[in-house]
Amino acid sequence: MKNYIIFGPPGAGKGSQAVILSKKYNLKHISTGDILREEIKNGTKLGLKVKSLMDEGALVSDDIILEIIKSVILNATGYSGFLYDGFPRTIYQFSALDEFLQKIGQKVDAVISLVVKEEVLIRRMLRRAEIEGRADDADINVVKTRISTYREQTEPLIEIFEKRGNYYPLEGDTTIEKNFNEICELIDGLI
Ligand code: ADP
Repeated sequence: MKNYIIFGPPGAGKGSQAVILSKKYNLKHISTGDILREEIKNGTKLGLKVKSLMDEGALVSDDIILEIIKSVILNATGYSGFLYDGFPRTIYQFSALDEFLQKIGQKVDAVISLVVKEEVLIRRMLRRAEIEGRADDADINVVKTRISTYREQTEPLIEIFEKRGNYYPLEGDTTIEKNFNEICELIDGLI
């Protein structure tokens, strides 16, 4: 089983790549954001708990996220691996994933990072708001909070990934097709 992380700030294009990559490589696409939005849509207890945090652009607690991740990993069958999208977002989340994968005889094989300038991220999220109707994309202040949450809590992970020697940054201010081809080349070179 392969484990790939698609990494980058909100609006970098992680979700778009994850959908097409998971199809091509038979990976289970795990988007913690999508899973949480589904819980909200279905009005579950968990959904109610996370809604206000997501609306304001803050992170949901590590415990909630890790429980989701472990259950998805343990229940997935028929896949060649996992593609994590929007996870890990904190050092704690990464350490817990790392430990969990070790226990089940797996590891993080690569971290593919989409690097995009802040002004482009903001523009993309505001445009996405019109298409997908996500409330956290429509409000410029929430968008900015999400970017600063990323800088403070998620970006420090890069140093850890670099030390592991499996961190691959790519210029993300380009087309979906170009990024997809670059990532495929990268993955094909690793297999
Ligand atoms: P984006 O990457 O565009 O911000 P996501 O769908 O990945 O969108 O995340 C939306 C929101 O869901 C985040 O702002 C956060 O509140 C919550 N969330 C998603 N994944 C995580 C995670 N791994 N840890 C904590 N909160 C998360």
